[in-house]
Amino acid sequence: MVHQFPSEPPVVANPHDSSWSIAQSLELYGVRDWGENYFDISPAGEMVAQLKVGSQTCQVALLDIIEGMKARGIEMPSILRIENLLDDRVKALNEAFKRAIADYNYQNDYRGVFPIKVNQQCHVIEEISDFGTRYHHGFEAGSKAELIIALSKLKDDQSLIICNGYKDSEFIELGLYAREMGLKCFFVLETPSELPTILECSERLGIEPLLGVRIRPSVVVDGHWNQDSGDRSIFGLSTASLVQIVEQLKQHQMLHCLQLLHCHLGSQIPNIRNVRSGVLEACRFYSGLIEEGAPMGLLDLGGGLAVDYEGTRSNHDHSMNYQLDEYCANIVETICECLDPQGIAHPVIVSESGRSTVAYSSMLLFNVLDVRDHRPVPLPDALPGNSHELVRNLWEVNQVVTAKNFQECYNDALFYRDEVRELFRRGQVSLGDRALGDNITLAILEKVAAELRVTKKQYPELDNLPEILADTYYGNFSLFQSLPDVWAIDQVFPVMPIHRLQEAPNRDAVIADITCDCDGKIDHFANANGIRRTTRLHSLKEGEEYYLGVFLVGAYQETLGDLHNLFGDTNVVSVHINADGSYDFVREFHGDSIADVLSYVEYDTKIMTEEFRQRAENAVKNGKITAAKRKQMMKAFKASLDGYTYFEKEEH
Ligand SMILES: *Cc1c(COP(=O)(O)O)cnc(C)c1O
Repeated sequence: MVHQFPSEPPVVANPHDSSWSIAQSLELYGVRDWGENYFDISPAGEMVAQLKVGSQTCQVALLDIIEGMKARGIEMPSILRIENLLDDRVKALNEAFKRAIADYNYQNDYRGVFPIKVNQQCHVIEEISDFGTRYHHGFEAGSKAELIIALSKLKDDQSLIICNGYKDSEFIELGLYAREMGLKCFFVLETPSELPTILECSERLGIEPLLGVRIRPSVVVDGHWNQDSGDRSIFGLSTASLVQIVEQLKQHQMLHCLQLLHCHLGSQIPNIRNVRSGVLEACRFYSGLIEEGAPMGLLDLGGGLAVDYEGTRSNHDHSMNYQLDEYCANIVETICECLDPQGIAHPVIVSESGRSTVAYSSMLLFNVLDVRDHRPVPLPDALPGNSHELVRNLWEVNQVVTAKNFQECYNDALFYRDEVRELFRRGQVSLGDRALGDNITLAILEKVAAELRVTKKQYPELDNLPEILADTYYGNFSLFQSLPDVWAIDQVFPVMPIHRLQEAPNRDAVIADITCDCDGKIDHFANANGIRRTTRLHSLKEGEEYYLGVFLVGAYQETLGDLHNLFGDTNVVSVHINADGSYDFVREFHGDSIADVLSYVEYDTKIMTEEFRQRAENAVKNGKITAAKRKQMMKAFKASLDGYTYFEKEEH
């Protein structure tokens, strides 16, 4: 569910208004609300990524990085990753748990694991592994492929590998070999049927497994995934199956292998109260299993640590009503409260935070290709003498819009406009009159919207006016490839220009992607007042690119994307920010070429080239083109195959 708020008048913005300040841009786009201090706006009006490197806070302008990318031949759209921002997130999570553990005099450690499914990109995984070693940060794997990633990329034997998901004997053998090599690799039982396979493999190979059980907490969490939580969760063991598994382990003299309890409430939990209830329930199961004689020792609380995409610090779906420190303190405190009275030793706390670890470090950058301007074309000085009476009425309304009567003018305008359109359908109004009528209506609505922006009063029936008048900014990106959750679950991400922020943004806008699919648009924007259907953007300048950024896209977006309209993977660049404020391009990946995406859907581009060649040769034979022209056409065809799937500016 998206929370709809009555549209509050946005900050008044006049492009020629020299009083516009960077502080107003910060507020309008909520940078300080969602940015976790990783983003800011420079005095030059450019969006900067900022990071503490040593004792210095270093800032790098995103526009500067784009220029650097362009100079290296890396075109828009591009994903930009900031390598040490990712490090900072791993650090923040581990340090926050460390503080909570000290504050509550907790007698054990925290061990984080990164759930690979949240961002499987090799560079992300390698960076978490490298940097995470100092905290023994491990991986959570939900499939064989992810286990293979963990087994090859994890450098530190003290780190955990937690295997969730359905496990066949191949999966289990791999995990057992990891055990034999001394890795702390746990199988978490999701269903009772997994146990016989594990017991069989273990006996056959003579390797004892480390086992965990995933419970199905009855806590129903708030937020987008609440349908999947509680009793109806498709994951985890029912209490009856849990008891059954304990019995089976006892029968096989394997109960000593059961050392971990796993509890995942769902992703993006906006409400801290749900976290508390979930931990409490997990602790009850934990102490119950100890009572049954299992050694236990680790309590894995899964993911769920949210990201405040909205920046409202609320319990809305795309927000969170707590901070990282509070999350850790709540977990540690709840465990103490529950286990201490029973005299149960504190377990190692494990969490599988994915979203909160990777969301901040990636952003999608793209240029705007075009704007469908919704402004009326300039009206004539006087109405043509032969204009239809209804058009005349509209003309008169347009002369009299004031702060006092704008609502009435709005109603009149729509009434006359609809009449004009009706008569046009019946052939009683000419094309010229219809066009003029529509145009005058737009002029009236613009005036009404201007009044609406400065009035203090609420006009609920005019709520969707900014939406009606909004320009459409066409961005060089595919929503389906790069922001699939916007399409799939109405996810809200911060979106804003990354330069010209010292100028007043003067247009209400929605953003459409290059697929021109009617679903390929961004029309939910978060700000301090909640979700709005339009945002404010700047008019394009002749001969100058206008760049937008979509932020906090590091979690889930990169691999959920699809090939709608055959727009492929975007370019990706990773930079590392240095202590002196400079930055290095540490990695770059070129996105899919057209030949790449065609091969994904089983085309053979060699055959296609041959087919095109035959077509061109026939045209030569029929005298339609010359042989020289054929050569030119073949060259263009091959260049297209090798080209980027997105809009490329011609090089001159
Ligand atoms: C998806 C998932 C996670 C990650 O959750 P976040 O909310 O992204 O931290 C962790 N554990 C399990 C079992 C998951 O399925």
